[in-house]
Amino acid sequence: KDNLARRNWQGSKKCCFCTHDETIEHLFFQCNFARSTWSVIQIASSLYPPTSVANIFGHWLDGISNRFKTLLRVGAYALLWSLWLYRNDFVFNDKNASPLQAIFRCTHSLRMWSMLQRAEVQPLFKAVYTRLEQVATEVFTQHGWQHNLRIGPSHLST
Ligand SMILES: [Zn+2]
Repeated sequence: KDNLARRNWQGSKKCCFCTHDETIEHLFFQCNFARSTWSVIQIASSLYPPTSVANIFGHWLDGISNRFKTLLRVGAYALLWSLWLYRNDFVFNDKNASPLQAIFRCTHSLRMWSMLQRAEVQPLFKAVYTRLEQVATEVFTQHGWQHNLRIGPSHLST
């Protein structure tokens, strides 16, 4: 919405999920619904969520082997794409899907995109989307869906 507003769009600049203005950084990283979705990734992988688009392309994966970097970036793109579709469903189709559905939409993309990868990395993709689906199901079975869901580092070992 901030990009539309720069082109003289006159609609509300507010995020559809909360009271903040909708920017790329807010929608994908700061809004509670995005943070809760990223927190599932964090539980599944012990990976700290990226803080911005620049961070994904920059220092987010410092210290991680190159073997995993591509996979993790593809995973991040799948989640960003899923969050964008989730937001559009909410804005344009009045659909109030749960973040669990956002995660499963992400893993569906990973399934499809894994077929485009070299054969030797496909099992790695499968391990990632299977683990993500398991963890997402466990988290939402235990906690249900709450916009203020906050999961601290102590939960990472479970
Ligand atoms: Zn928001």
